[in-house]
Amino acid sequence: SYDVTGKRIWVAGHRGMVGGAVVRRLASEDCEVVTAGREVMDLTRQAEVDDWMAETRPDVIVMAAARVGGILANDTHPVDFLQDNLLIETNIARAAHAADVERFLFLGSSCIYPKMAPQPMAEDSLLTGPLEPTNEWYAIAKIAGIKLMQAYRKQYGRDWISAMPTNLYGPGDNYDLESSHVLPALLRKFHEAKESGAERVEVWGSGTPLREFLHCDDLADALVFLLKEYSGAEHVNVGSGVEVSIRELAETIARVVGYEAELVFDATKPDGTPRKLMDSGRLHAMGWNRARPLEEGIRDAYAHFLAGEARG
Ligand code: GDP
Repeated sequence: SYDVTGKRIWVAGHRGMVGGAVVRRLASEDCEVVTAGREVMDLTRQAEVDDWMAETRPDVIVMAAARVGGILANDTHPVDFLQDNLLIETNIARAAHAADVERFLFLGSSCIYPKMAPQPMAEDSLLTGPLEPTNEWYAIAKIAGIKLMQAYRKQYGRDWISAMPTNLYGPGDNYDLESSHVLPALLRKFHEAKESGAERVEVWGSGTPLREFLHCDDLADALVFLLKEYSGAEHVNVGSGVEVSIRELAETIARVVGYEAELVFDATKPDGTPRKLMDSGRLHAMGWNRARPLEEGIRDAYAHFLAGEARG
């Protein structure tokens, strides 16, 4: 196992939901956390990354920096999603190798798996079939990142690893109704219905699709666990192992917000894939299985949402 005591850990992408959660989690470890915002360096520029890395010389990198976005953004800016993510990954990996970085934790997402992968999706279904076309730009870049970690392990013996989180939510989430995922969207819709006294809340699709959700602070806890305990070429899925229907999710959110409204299912909006569950059996077998119950997690997310709203 790897001891993080006294180590300098760079959390790349600390302003995002995942990076922010990792920074919070590392505060309870005896290590030094370093961050560098956009004003310090542009991660798509090799020279800037090289200079910063040579100067800072982290022992560990948690790579939560990426160009991310929803289905619409992916579909309309494919070059940005493919090219920027490839640049960010390769720039950081190359500079990290030059700086002798001991541990590198690369992060992907569940969209790396084939569209028709058997459910729940296990690690070994990677590259067994075609991807979902709408986000294949992002997915291909993330698959390349996993392969890059494996390549550095194979060619240079680097103990660098990858983790693939399921759908995440929590503090720092995107609550924009056009571009957000279902959990923050419904949280906001129920909150606004409560404020205005609206009798109905609109839910896209049929309400029957099944999804798995993980609080970003639980992800961060799992990532620190992997940093300490896991050395292997294969990426590791990080999920709660629990799935709920969109209807059940809406009902749970209604309880958390404390507002009863009639659910109106909008059949003109797409359901997407009927089921999206990760097989997190490997992680759970390694000894991490600490995801909080969904309702408890949503309570925390809602408290942060309200606090953010109060700040304006
Ligand atoms: P996905 O997991 O990649 O399909 O992405 P989403 O989180 O955006 O959507 C998950 C499911 O929730 C889909 O079946 C959506 O139709 C459904 N859904 C219901 N209401 C909403 C909403 O207000 N916003 C979003 N994004 N999805 C919704």
